[in-house]
Formats: sequence, C-alpha cells, structure tokens
Amino acid sequence: MVLETLIRRAGKHAGVMISDLADIYDKVAASQRISDDDALRLYRSRDLAALGAIASVVRERKNGQHASYILNRYLNYSNICILCCQFCEFGRKKRDAGAFELTLEQMVERVSNDLRLGITEVHIVGGLHPSLPFSYYTGMIRALKALDPNLHIKAFTAVELYHFASLTRKPLAEILALLREAGLDSITGGGAEIFSQRVRDILCKGKETADQYLDCHRTWHRMGMRSTCTMLYGHIETPEERVDHLCRLRELQEETRGFTSFVPLHFVPNKTRLAHLTPASGFDDLRNLAVARIYLDNFDHITGYWIALGMKLAQVSLSFGVDDLHGTIIEERIFEMAGGRGGQQQTREQLERAIREAGRIPVQRDSLFRPIKIIKTAAEPARKSNS
Ligand code: SF4
Repeated sequence: MVLETLIRRAGKHAGVMISDLADIYDKVAASQRISDDDALRLYRSRDLAALGAIASVVRERKNGQHASYILNRYLNYSNICILCCQFCEFGRKKRDAGAFELTLEQMVERVSNDLRLGITEVHIVGGLHPSLPFSYYTGMIRALKALDPNLHIKAFTAVELYHFASLTRKPLAEILALLREAGLDSITGGGAEIFSQRVRDILCKGKETADQYLDCHRTWHRMGMRSTCTMLYGHIETPEERVDHLCRLRELQEETRGFTSFVPLHFVPNKTRLAHLTPASGFDDLRNLAVARIYLDNFDHITGYWIALGMKLAQVSLSFGVDDLHGTIIEERIFEMAGGRGGQQQTREQLERAIREAGRIPVQRDSLFRPIKIIKTAAEPARKSNS
C-alpha cells in the first residue's frame, strides 16, 4: 500500500522507484496495453513490490477498493474418466477404488441442503464418463433448476463438452444449445491447463487442443453467454508458454468480451504422478497473478483461488492485482484429492474478514460479478467498557 501510494503521488518520477520496470509502469499508468515482451520481462522480474504496485494500478482502475466473493458450492457428479492426465488425482477408471457416480437424487439432496445456507451458484464438473447418457447431464441441470430457478448453474469444462459432442455425435454448438435450454447459465474455465501443445502432449494427451478450448468458449460467448477461464501453472511450462497462454485469452476476450474473470490455478503435485515436481512458490504465485492483472487489460476481474493458494496467500494476493476471492466453495474435491492444503469451505464471515483486513471493501457478488451486497462497515465485535 505504501508503495502504491508513493507511486500515485510521485507520478512520473515513480519510475525511478521501480527501477527496470519503470517503462512498463509508465505504459500501464497511461492505460496502454503491454506487449508479450513486456509480460516476459515481468515474469522474469524479482521486484515483487513493483509488480504488486503496477498490478494495483490496474486493479484499482477497474474495481476501486472492492473485492468480491460468491456463496457457492461445488458438485462433482463423477470422477470416472477415460483420460489419464498426469496432473490429475481426481480421475478414476470405472473399476478403480474410489470411483464414484452420483445419482440425480444425491445431487439434488446436496444442493438443496446448501440452498438453505444462501448459495447462489453451483459449480459442476466431472470426469469424461464413458457411458452416462447425455440425458443425465440435461436432467441434472433441470433437476437443480427446479429447486430454485434463480440458482446459477455453472457447469462443465470445454473437454467435457467436447466429450458430450463425441458421445452423441452432435456438433458442439448443438450440445451447448441443448444444455442452455435445460438451464445451463455459464460454462466453467477448467481444462485450459497450459495452451502449449508441447506441454499438452506430455501432460494430458487426448485432451482438447488450445484452439478447441478457445472455440468452445467463443461459441458459448456468441450465444450471448459468459464463462471464466483458467491457467494451470507451476509444472513444466516455461515463462514464454505462460505469456502465450495469456495472449490467446486476451485475443479471444478482445473478440467476444465473454470472460468474466481469469482464474490462475496453482498446480498441486503432492499426490499426482508429477509429485517429483517442485510446485510454484508463493513468490511465483503472486508474480503470476500480478502479471495476469497487468497483461489482461480487457478482463474486469482476476480471481485468487484460495483452494489452491491457501487462504493466507489469497488474502495477500489482493495487493497483487486480485479483486475476487472466488467463493465459499463447499465440497471441493479435485485439489483436495491431489493433496492440496488450501482447506475446505470458507464462511461468508471468513471471506469478508480476509478482504477487510487487506484494506478492501467486501462485495458479495453473483455469478456474473454483479454486486448483491456491498459490505461497507465491519460488524465490530462487542467490547467491554472500562468505565
Ligand atoms: S483432468 Fe479431467 S480429463 Fe484429465 S484425467 Fe482428470 S478428470 Fe479426466
């Protein structure tokens, strides 16, 4: 905050304070777009304070002091999957121990319990199940919508959607239209991993290509719908491949304006087949978020995914370009099964406290980032009087 304030007051002279990133600061302060080379320099910089300060210029311009969260729950309908992504500990073959497949009744029960807690969104993903009929997915959406028509159904990654298209032999656009007709409100951003085909060939052969991922979101956006996007980082990707990933997202956003938020995902190797890899450090997490905030100038929001970062680092990320802490996230399983230590489920109060402590104003948002409630003042704990 001190550096941010100094930069704001110092104006042009602030460049001196941020040394070799001064020219990038000047561009950002003048609302100019940074180049891929600039992004690469930011990724190579060790001046974390300067990165945070530059990212804060963009964050503040777009969101002021507001930092948002949503009341949501996750729902994984099945972990049975025909692929074997190296970084995944969630997927199972049908006969493996721990394989599961929820019935519609089980899903309805879980979601109806949490509707009583005030959730406004359910976020649904699963493995690429070899034999569930398409009617299972449309039925799931209809059944959940029947519980509460205002409940926002955010579901399926691009690779699941291509899987439905392949199972039914229907074009992707038709699959998306049928799901929307059933009540699907948004598609999720998962499955982007890193767009580089070099990395995809090593880590997730058989998964959709970058172009397919982007085409899926493009098609959805052209239907007037919104989605989020992600990047799984901290495994074998290079800084150049991270920049390429951001570049492709920025280009699609320029075309459709359909992404609500970018959600970088810190890779948790612990229990996966890549357990020998050293995960991204806290330094790299914050730098990655800051670079994303600076580079993705056509995105309104950058989300700090506390499930992967841990709540403490997610809170700190609010000073590194992040303006959204995702949500309460009831029943996350994918990162948990990979050995993630981010924990399970935050309460509304915990999220608001984290935001307020970081000097921001908590905003409960809906799935399209529209404010539901701006929490302007803290509920002060009762204090004993000395008199
Ligand atoms: S990441 Fe998704 S597609 Fe890959 S193995 Fe896991 S569940 Fe299957």
